Amino acid sequence: MLQIIGGAIAALVLALVIGVTLLLVISGGRGGGGGGDAQLAAGSLKVGKDGVPAAYAALIQQAADDCEEGLPASVLAAQLKQESGFQADPGRSSAGALGIAQFMPGTWKTAGVDGNNDGRKDPLDPEDAIPAQGKMMCKLLRTAKKHPDYDGSPVELALAGYNAGWGRVEQYRGVPPRSFAEGQTYNYVKIIMSNVASLTGPDGGLSSGWARPVDGPLGTPYHQRGGAWSSGMHTGIDFTVPTGTPVKAAGPGKVVTAGDGGAYGNQVVIKHADGTYSQYGHLSEISVSTGKRLQAGQKIGLSGATGNVSGPHLHFEIRTGPGYGSDIDPGAFLRKRGVKL
Ligand SMILES: [Zn+2]
Repeated sequence: MLQIIGGAIAALVLALVIGVTLLLVISGGRGGGGGGDAQLAAGSLKVGKDGVPAAYAALIQQAADDCEEGLPASVLAAQLKQESGFQADPGRSSAGALGIAQFMPGTWKTAGVDGNNDGRKDPLDPEDAIPAQGKMMCKLLRTAKKHPDYDGSPVELALAGYNAGWGRVEQYRGVPPRSFAEGQTYNYVKIIMSNVASLTGPDGGLSSGWARPVDGPLGTPYHQRGGAWSSGMHTGIDFTVPTGTPVKAAGPGKVVTAGDGGAYGNQVVIKHADGTYSQYGHLSEISVSTGKRLQAGQKIGLSGATGNVSGPHLHFEIRTGPGYGSDIDPGAFLRKRGVKL
């Protein structure tokens, strides 16, 4: 939290008072007011140089997608950029804040999560800190939406709450003005909002972050009819590849199934940010486990011929649910996202 309010407010520290330290002090002089958040609705990230570091993109996207309030991933990214410059451990700030999302130890006690299920809640571990940041921002956004009369968009109000504590937002009925805390919260919100666009993908996310799941030619197409399949037709597309070919996640997401899939042999199912699932069948080897977060192109195993097959290949499905029977046309799905098949 801001040093300036430390002592006086200490007694009033409530669950929503959030500890964040500004790392950047900027001069004033930028235009006043804040943009609305209509243009933030599409939420994909610009990844790589001048954008979000690839190592954190999937975590940030997942944190945004876990929020039902329409929290843009690019807002979380711009916030991390402002808090720590995307450094997992920028060193303890003068106020005591820690990690990529600059949690104060006291705040972490209530807001910390064990995002990667390693048995530890560690503010220095981005796999814990980023989900915790997303959860906290989501909660603040939910609260902010209940105050349409406040000065600032819900996203701006949530950011101000993260920086100064929601109590300050209530006190000022909006983003605290420049006169509060030497403009730190005011500028925090403004800098983040001005950086959102530069961290947003150019296409609203449709064509970014998806990839061909294996390097190899297409085989049996979607919905080909035949007695080999229990439904009477092929529920995915096949890639004709020899056993041992690396198989990669087609899009960013989280592994929800990794193991024996009966007729599918060794299979992996990944849940994606948009609510779809991708499935990879007949693998000879699986190299991920349930809960693992992945980006497109990350290896999940090796192709093979396990389960009900006539020869080695990768069977690939896109589904609207985690299980068999909710398949949609995977070729059309990937093409729409810029993947050449
Ligand atoms: Zn198949």
